[in-house]
Amino acid sequence: MNKEQIDIIGDNHISSNVDTPMRANAFEKSNDEKIKNIQHYFGKIMEELGLDLTDDSLSGTPYRVAKMYVKELFYGLNPENKPKLSVFENKYDYKKMLVEQNITIDSACEHHFLPITGHAHIAYIPKDKVVGLSKINRLVDYYSHRPQVQERLSLQILKDLQVTLNTEDVIVMINAKHLCVSSRGIKDKSSFTTTLEYGGCFKEKSFRDDFFKIINQKMI
Ligand SMILES: [Zn+2]
Repeated sequence: MNKEQIDIIGDNHISSNVDTPMRANAFEKSNDEKIKNIQHYFGKIMEELGLDLTDDSLSGTPYRVAKMYVKELFYGLNPENKPKLSVFENKYDYKKMLVEQNITIDSACEHHFLPITGHAHIAYIPKDKVVGLSKINRLVDYYSHRPQVQERLSLQILKDLQVTLNTEDVIVMINAKHLCVSSRGIKDKSSFTTTLEYGGCFKEKSFRDDFFKIINQKMI
C-alpha cells in the first residue's frame, strides 16, 4: 500500500472486516512482556521527535503509555477480559422494548489511535432471556476498548447481544465524536457521526420510530 492509499483509508475510515483483525499469536506474550516492548518502542518514537527522555517529566512516559495501552485503552482486545453476560429467564414474560441509553463510549480510532467519544443507545425485545442492565454497559465498554471503526463497533455489540439474548430483535445506535476529524485533517469541531445497526423486528419502521421516540426524550 502506498502512502496516498494509507491516507485515503484513514480519512474515509474504511473498515475491512466485522471482526477486529488480530494476529494468530496475539496473546502468546504476557501483559508484562507487551508493556516492556511497547515502552521500548514508544521511547524510540519520543526520541525521534527530538524529546529528551532524561527529563524527569518525560522519563516515565514510555512506561505510562505502554501500561495505558495494554491495561486500559485496549484491554478489550483480549477475549479473556470479556465481561460475563449472565442471562436470566424472562420470568416476567416482559415482551416489549427495553432501552438502555446514553451509555458512554470511550474508544479509539484504529486509523489514527486518537479518541472516539460519545454515547450508545441500545434496545432489545426479550424472548426467553434477559440480561442484567449494567451488563449491556460493560459489553459496550469491552468492545470500545480496542482500536476501532465506529461501524464495526456497532456491529460487534449488535451481534454479541443477538447471540447472548437469543433474539434478532436488537438495535444499536452510536453517536460519537472522532478526535481525528476534529483535531487533524478536516479539523471540524462540531460534526459527529451516527451509526445504526439492527435486526429482526427493528427492520420495521414502526419499531425503529418507537426506539427513536424513546431515545429523544429528555432524561428524568
Ligand atoms: Zn481516525
